[in-house]
Amino acid sequence: MTFPDMRTTVTVDPERCCATGGCVFIAPEVFTIENGKAEVLAGVDLTEHAEEIREASDCCPTEAIQLQE
Ligand code: SF4
Repeated sequence: MTFPDMRTTVTVDPERCCATGGCVFIAPEVFTIENGKAEVLAGVDLTEHAEEIREASDCCPTEAIQLQE
């Protein structure tokens, strides 16, 4: 998934995610937990939620949320 104006990709590394739920708490419109791992929801306007995504990434205790240019 990308931020159209920033060309940034958001992914969750399932090997790192330990399902604390922090990202879902901070950005419930963007993240969900399926089968014990966080995932980025399909069809989300990532640009609209860019601030929450960055906050969730900063708060992830295992650094599982990756923003890639
Ligand atoms: S905050 Fe990090 S460790 Fe917690 S559920 Fe989200 S991706 Fe997984």
